[in-house]
Amino acid sequence: MAVERIYLDWNATAPLMGAARDAMLEALAMPGNPSSVHAEGRAARAVIEKARRDVAHLVGAEPAHVTFTASATEAANQVLSPVYRMGKSRVALGRLFVSAIEHPAVRAGGRFAADQVTEVPVTRSGVLDLDALSAQLAAHDPADGLPLVAVMLVNNETGIIQPIQEIATIVKKCGGLLVVDAVQAAGRIPLSIAELGADFLILSAHKLGGPKGVGALVSRGETLMPEPLVRGGGQEKGHRAGTENLAAIAGFGAAAREMTAGLVERTAHVSALRDRAEQAMLSVAPDTVIYGRGEARVGNTSFFHLPGLKAETGQIAFDLEGVALSAGAACSSGKVGASHVLTAMGEDAATGALRLSIGPDTTESDIDRFLGAFAKIAARRKPAGQAA
Ligand code: PLP
Repeated sequence: MAVERIYLDWNATAPLMGAARDAMLEALAMPGNPSSVHAEGRAARAVIEKARRDVAHLVGAEPAHVTFTASATEAANQVLSPVYRMGKSRVALGRLFVSAIEHPAVRAGGRFAADQVTEVPVTRSGVLDLDALSAQLAAHDPADGLPLVAVMLVNNETGIIQPIQEIATIVKKCGGLLVVDAVQAAGRIPLSIAELGADFLILSAHKLGGPKGVGALVSRGETLMPEPLVRGGGQEKGHRAGTENLAAIAGFGAAAREMTAGLVERTAHVSALRDRAEQAMLSVAPDTVIYGRGEARVGNTSFFHLPGLKAETGQIAFDLEGVALSAGAACSSGKVGASHVLTAMGEDAATGALRLSIGPDTTESDIDRFLGAFAKIAARRKPAGQAA
């Protein structure tokens, strides 16, 4: 008999919401190109502009400041540019500073050459080392071009929330620009680009119940914008050319709208389930290490290590029990690499950690199923020091 599956890997991707699916199906039936001036074109344009308002509202931004892209990765490649434009003038950015725990989409450095990128360390608690950032920025000569700093708001592995406002103060003091990857934060914590003090936010639809393959670059203003990455027909005010993916953008807007409404209740539901899971894990296996437990974290994520169990083995064992969770970050090859996040935190990354990540549709009985599997797997593991 097939085992009923439980999906607890929302940080890898969230299931498509009903509202997003409905909006996508409606958009798929629309014949017009959003750039056409006839009625069909205008109807398609209206769908995009509605989605733009909904995505802007999710992050407290102006709709005019939302540029749709094909993914958060594309938005990162667009914004991490050594060349910006202020009207017709060219502005050179001299160096990119990225935190050591960024997602590979940002860590890869966008269009900066490798020798123009500086990594900013985190402390053992997984929070950006603010003194190190201040010292690195102080050592940067602004005559070489403005500094660009990229720090994520919520880490995809640990769920730890970074002190973006404090980081923004440091960055502004040095005349720099701040890019915040808000992919794992949007829809999970209240967001306002102005309150954060960020110049740019990066978003992805598929982490909040929208479709895969659509993201956004959100800017605080419009004066200083990165050189476009995709040039062509001038769509998205010239910031991202190419006929818009109407259905995906419609789905993104619908998901953003749903996630903005009822955020507080949803967060309370998700945090209560995650906290119950963690307490039960610690009572079944008191040696379980839960990373970032004492830090500010989003309520849906638990990143844990069971001594004597390799994360890769653990992931397979959970999968066989019908529970989908992840061993650190999913990489495109499907292989589990050592977590650069754990390494950056000074932890032993060799045996890795497992990530439980849940969402608003997760139920008490899903958590019970997870805990049942956890108890079995914890009982089978090798004594500490003999991870298998
Ligand atoms: N940033 C973070 C923190 C992520 O978790 C992800 C996805 O895993 C991305 C960026 C990339 O998003 P996308 O899949 O839209 O390129």
